Amino acid sequence: MIIAQRKPFKEISEAVAPYDKILIVGCGTCVAVCLAGGEKEVGLLASQLKLAAGLKGRRIEVGEITVERQCDREFLEPLCDFVADHDAILSMACGAGVQFLAQLYYFKPIFPAVDTTFIGVNEAVGLFTERCRACHHCYLGLTGGICPLTMCPKGLLNGPCGGTLNGKCEVDPEKDCAWSEIYRRLEQQGRLDNLKKIVPLHPHARSTTPGQVIHPAYQRRYSAYE
Ligand code: SF4
Ligand code: SF4
Repeated sequence: MIIAQRKPFKEISEAVAPYDKILIVGCGTCVAVCLAGGEKEVGLLASQLKLAAGLKGRRIEVGEITVERQCDREFLEPLCDFVADHDAILSMACGAGVQFLAQLYYFKPIFPAVDTTFIGVNEAVGLFTERCRACHHCYLGLTGGICPLTMCPKGLLNGPCGGTLNGKCEVDPEKDCAWSEIYRRLEQQGRLDNLKKIVPLHPHARSTTPGQVIHPAYQRRYSAYE
């Protein structure tokens, strides 16, 4: 899932300071799980904004709504009336959700209330770790399910650098060397032969942005986009 963190309150409140009617839009998927932008966080931010405005002698209206997914048009179109009733939108979704909302409601100023951080996992309560850089060409089948591009700070694809020491990473000795982990994993699975396979240069050209994926079943429908 996509991991995000809420922006500092000062940054958010300065962004929306010129507006008296603010709509906060949360997202019920990734950012809700990582406790950054779900329904509960929308409520907390709304209270904080109203309290801060009150302390300055201002009265503001803060609308609250959380949709299932901000990255999906079907959940955004019903927001039309809410958006019309407010001067500005604060989105608590990841960067994709903010942009989709901005595209649909282009006539309203929109501000992100969270910083999108990475694609990761919910390791334990409140602990999220990065696992994937969406590189367009997955190597996990070769590396025992450990991503060399993400878990190794140098993104090495063909074994460790010369700096690995006692299984630790030279960039951050607190962390395990990704390639030591890959070795151990492949050894456990009796697949050490994988290490002899040379992986060609990563096709970075394919990672140029913005990316696009069309499901094979919809190729004809969207052929104009190609
Ligand atoms: S190789 Fe790593 S970065 Fe690329 S898709 Fe697989 S997990 Fe993601
Ligand atoms: S020590 Fe291991 S994880 Fe760290 S940069 Fe070198 S190969 Fe990558």
